[in-house]
Amino acid sequence: MLLILHPDTARDSEAYRETMNFLDQLSNVEVRVHDVLGSQQTLTEVYLIGDTKALDAGEIEALPAVERVIRISDDFRVLGRHSDAERQTGFDYNGIHFDQDNLNVFAGLCAVDNPTHVEEMLRALKDNGQQCTRMGAYKPRTNPYSFQGHGADCLPWVFELAGRYDIRVVAMEVTHENHVWEIEQALEQTGHPTGVMLQVGTRNTQNFELLKALGRQSTFPVLLKRGFGITLNESLNAAEYLATEGNTNVIFCLRGMKTEAGNPHRNLVDFAHIPVVKRLTRMPVCIDPSHSVGVRDRAPDGMSDIVHATAQGVIAGANMILADFHPNPEKALVDGPQALLPRDLPRFLKDVELCHETYRKRRALYADNG
Ligand code: PEP
Ligand code: MN
Repeated sequence: MLLILHPDTARDSEAYRETMNFLDQLSNVEVRVHDVLGSQQTLTEVYLIGDTKALDAGEIEALPAVERVIRISDDFRVLGRHSDAERQTGFDYNGIHFDQDNLNVFAGLCAVDNPTHVEEMLRALKDNGQQCTRMGAYKPRTNPYSFQGHGADCLPWVFELAGRYDIRVVAMEVTHENHVWEIEQALEQTGHPTGVMLQVGTRNTQNFELLKALGRQSTFPVLLKRGFGITLNESLNAAEYLATEGNTNVIFCLRGMKTEAGNPHRNLVDFAHIPVVKRLTRMPVCIDPSHSVGVRDRAPDGMSDIVHATAQGVIAGANMILADFHPNPEKALVDGPQALLPRDLPRFLKDVELCHETYRKRRALYADNG
């Protein structure tokens, strides 16, 4: 059972004390308190875990600090919607807002290679009004002999450059909990010129110890990629691991499924699951058209399969786009064949804007549909 307290209920208020005293004496029920920091207000959610079937929802709703009571299913207890359309979605991080309605673009390098390429990319982003990027420093590779990323060594100069070009959030994959500490150190050392969104890659979706470690920290939001060979339900449960440990600033990323049926694309595009994730959970939904499609091939209409897939995702209500770009794809150390060029950026962003506008019009069209 989930109790939503009246907004901005203070911990030292009489209403809070009275409510908690009542809850604490319930037998076989564990009480867990979560603060949800919104841009307008702080919401406190109280989870009652255990023997809650016999509890009288009306009696609990009458407690002075309680605004409403929601009966929750076992799945996605923290991140789930539980048929309550009003549950708050989204969060703010380093001046950027993320929720299930808006849209943020993270275009950038799949992997950091050298300062020239990073700077060229960042300059293109700034010139196009962008405040977010992707830059991989720790790369999980199928082949142990492939480039593994520059790791901690590149972090200080990447963060400094990001700050110089007014980038507020860098999405960066981590494959071990030590990487979080290395990122914190580098941000500290450089005076926090930017922020970082920790990315969990598709190969680590069910690395539960990594998820628990990232869930225990609340400094950085987490972008969780869907596992490419498991069910959607299993990937959503992986996100819940982050939330049960305390970090609810989680974005869920669709990135295609590994199957021969996806050929000649690298993966089979799964963006039809955007509305499903929104229905089941409160997480903003990201799409990664680059790792889904994997090639820069173009259709006779002049548009690449990657921009077509991006459009499909945005028209279906995606809230974030992770897209590989590189100033010189032939020289990229990772995933050059799927990188778009910085000169494609203005058109790409215009296309995204058109599609997002169309999504909003579509939503208005169905607004009275319950
Ligand atoms: C990436 O985004 O760089 C990446 C490796 O993605 P995925 O985990 O989806 O393969
Ligand atoms: Mn990649």
